[in-house]
Amino acid sequence: MDFAFDARTEQLREQLLAFMESHIYPAEPVFTEQLAQRDDPWTSVPVVEELKAEARKRGLWNFFLPGEHGSGLTNLQYAPLAEITGRSPHLAPVALNCAAPDTGNMEVLAMFGTEQQRKEWLRPLLDGEIRSAFAMTEPDVASSDARNIATRIERDGDSYVINGRKWYISGAMNPDCRIFIVMGKTDPDAEPHRQQSMVLVPRDTPGMTVRRGMHVFGYTDGDHGGHAEVVFDDVRVPAENLIGEEGGGFGIAQARLGPGRIHHCMRLIGMAERAIELMCRRATSRVAFGKPLADQGVVQDWIAEARVRVEQLRLLVLKTAWLMDTVGNRGAHTEIQAIKIATPAAVEWILDKAIQTHGAGGVSQDFPLAELWAAARMLRLADGPDEVHKQSLARRELKRYR
Ligand SMILES: Cc1cc2nc3c(=O)[nH]c(=O)nc-3n(C[C@H](O)[C@H](O)[C@H](O)COP(=O)(O)OP(=O)(O)OC[C@H]3O[C@@H](n4cnc5c(N)ncnc54)[C@H](O)[C@@H]3O)c2cc1C
Repeated sequence: MDFAFDARTEQLREQLLAFMESHIYPAEPVFTEQLAQRDDPWTSVPVVEELKAEARKRGLWNFFLPGEHGSGLTNLQYAPLAEITGRSPHLAPVALNCAAPDTGNMEVLAMFGTEQQRKEWLRPLLDGEIRSAFAMTEPDVASSDARNIATRIERDGDSYVINGRKWYISGAMNPDCRIFIVMGKTDPDAEPHRQQSMVLVPRDTPGMTVRRGMHVFGYTDGDHGGHAEVVFDDVRVPAENLIGEEGGGFGIAQARLGPGRIHHCMRLIGMAERAIELMCRRATSRVAFGKPLADQGVVQDWIAEARVRVEQLRLLVLKTAWLMDTVGNRGAHTEIQAIKIATPAAVEWILDKAIQTHGAGGVSQDFPLAELWAAARMLRLADGPDEVHKQSLARRELKRYR
């Protein structure tokens, strides 16, 4: 067993770390300022486009996508790079064209799209020219059970007609989000896993309304396009907008979520590393009751615990990435669920301690900790709540004994 990164990964890590120092971290205050100045709270800001151009010029582009359409990295090679981008989660992933939900949508188009769909939508997404959204969750049904999805996608001649209401559709408030992958039921009478299909719905198709941006603990997440409520009222798209086959939507959703989950976990580890760094800097620079905070046993306990938890998580994430590369996403199912259960919760804990160490500053807008905490906390819901992953993992474990 070899715990070292290979030569290509090391080289890309060095390039990426240099880009973080020279461009990403200095752009963070500029980004905040530009966000505050824009007229439309959901649009992209110029500094993001500048970073994208620079990253692409340096070859730091589309790392997330294995195979012919992407940069050709394995999951194991991508993992440490995604971790680095997680240190600045609002800027670095999008600068490298490695941000959710576009990554998952590009994977779907690369895996299941027709040649025409790839040309029309995958190409501009790979080039970072447009953004995209994935519309599955609905306010009116428990959407953690995808079989409940009630939006109707009905065949009518050469078209599909869509009716339903979705919410928390990430990225959808951003006008650059040009294409939606929408999941709904084409055949409510089929067996439960064959009722759903996915269709491509271009923004501004008549009948489609992006109604409002949903908040996450009060944050709009407008910096990366927000999370929209979207209504489909007799929305008509050509039949060739179907992705894959009718009844294949559930399977596509499963295929999409595996890589998406590990990418979130990789970035979360980078967020945790940043939190530990901030915690240590703060603890060594503030004095209370006659000694630095860093000399308080309780703070040392938090720092030690944080380091132990991050090291454990990283090993599990890397093992999962290696399994995805060697036995496939299906073979790595248990491990993908394990990291999706373990990582957001552990990183949430670490961020909580970093916030506590910062006192009032920890919950303020002057440090990134409060917003990072909100991001970690919401990832215990998004891409499947903890409880659903635990139930499924436990069932597989129990199967061996039944
Ligand atoms: C910030 C954010 C961004 C999101 N982005 C997107 C997006 O881009 N596209 C999209 O389609 N969706 C998105 N989602 C939605 C997300 O995927 C769903 O919220 C999630 O799947 C849960 O569905 P639900 O909200 O309907 O919860 P429900 O299904 O109503 O579940 C509520 C709770 O019930 C409990 N529960 C459910 N099943 C079980 C079980 N088997 N055992 C024990 N307890 C259980 C869990 O505690 C769960 O949290 C996003 C969510 C957030 C918060």
